[in-house]
Amino acid sequence: MSASHDELESIETFMEWLEPNHPGETEFLQAVRGVAENVLDTVRETENYREQRILQRLTEPDRIIRFRVVWEDDDGIPRINRGYRVQHSNALGPYKGGLRFDPSVNQSILKFLAFEQLFKNSLTGLNLGAGKGGSDFNPKGRSDKEIMRFCHAFMTELARHIGQLTDVPAGDIGVGAREIGYLFGQYKRLENQFAGALTGKSVGAGGSELRIEATGYGAIYFLCGMLAEDGEEIDGKRIAVSGAGNVAVHAAEKAQSLGAIVTTLSNRSGTLVKEDGLSADDIGTVKSRYVGDLSAIAEAVSARWLQGEKPWRVGCDVAVPAATQNELDERDAGDLIDAGCRYVLEAANMPLTEAAAAAFEASGVAIAPGKAANAGGVAVSGFEITQNRLGRSWPRERLDTELRETMAGIFDRCKGRGRIDDRIDYRRGADIAGFDRVARAVLSFGTM
Ligand code: GLU
Repeated sequence: MSASHDELESIETFMEWLEPNHPGETEFLQAVRGVAENVLDTVRETENYREQRILQRLTEPDRIIRFRVVWEDDDGIPRINRGYRVQHSNALGPYKGGLRFDPSVNQSILKFLAFEQLFKNSLTGLNLGAGKGGSDFNPKGRSDKEIMRFCHAFMTELARHIGQLTDVPAGDIGVGAREIGYLFGQYKRLENQFAGALTGKSVGAGGSELRIEATGYGAIYFLCGMLAEDGEEIDGKRIAVSGAGNVAVHAAEKAQSLGAIVTTLSNRSGTLVKEDGLSADDIGTVKSRYVGDLSAIAEAVSARWLQGEKPWRVGCDVAVPAATQNELDERDAGDLIDAGCRYVLEAANMPLTEAAAAAFEASGVAIAPGKAANAGGVAVSGFEITQNRLGRSWPRERLDTELRETMAGIFDRCKGRGRIDDRIDYRRGADIAGFDRVARAVLSFGTM
């Protein structure tokens, strides 16, 4: 092996090569390690990938933009936050990925999310590059006017870095249709263009039908594929969902409509439990009334409230972590395994710690990886871009058909590349299939 790719000798040598370039960025290093473990053999065996150092090149974002956001609170006091956009790769299309507004946001978290997005967007088969951005701004407890002023100030800087052929942000934690509305309004004002430079817009203001439901629905379509592969079906399965945001409630809604018994939803304060399963009306109540206090909703839907607890001790066939990164640790995995859980559907991005994932794998629990299972959201964002370019709005039925077909395609790619003897490692399949498409594109451009 030549000196230029000694780092490919083992996962440890690769991480030793990587770490000094990204000091202290634990989430980013965790995400890269996860992918590198799965693709290392393929990279070593493929001469072009090895010699052209494709994996090494793909770990380095094209650029990271960091900026100051100053906005005025309701008392007239200037507040200062940090804004970011990580433009990871435009090998497959314009940079694409959400914006997260949460106090936990930092460069490591956005770099890991942008890196995951690269494989996710590749798996969709659409022309979508990869990016992620956001701010450490905390929207919780802020008035509507404060959120508007923050979004306008954030976009005042971001606008010069995005565009429908350059970079197309969307929502993520803390950024929903309201925030996208304020962001898009400011973009439109600054650029004097009604262009599809953001997705997740509201329907009627350039947005797409089904975008809001797409991540959660798509995840359940992926789960149905996994169950069918094992000769099983979703009807009657006990499903525990974490989170109570957009992804969680729409995953719950779709699962319930297909006959599953959805027993939980949660937030950072605790877990809402209904052993007999949440009804469509219960889920509708969460959707329309939840703004932060889930215990109050538990009372409204006659559910139990477990203060300070996660949903993983309730007992289920399928666990659906749909909240945030590293939310499910080794102890939670142990509880789930002991209670007979057989499937984990990652609806959030990287919700399992490395130790939790290893525990599931050792116990034969099948994992649907987030970069495949939650790709429905960005896929419908891709359809929103297409509709904006065409100047047409597709009906909901058409979008649902497109979403189902996209998720089926992603499932087939994961299955095709993830088969090991008589079992399927969907995580490995997702990483190899996602990597392969980007790697071929990067090779075609020459050295850059
Ligand atoms: N934030 C979402 C994700 O993690 C959606 C991204 C998008 O629609 O661009 O995939």
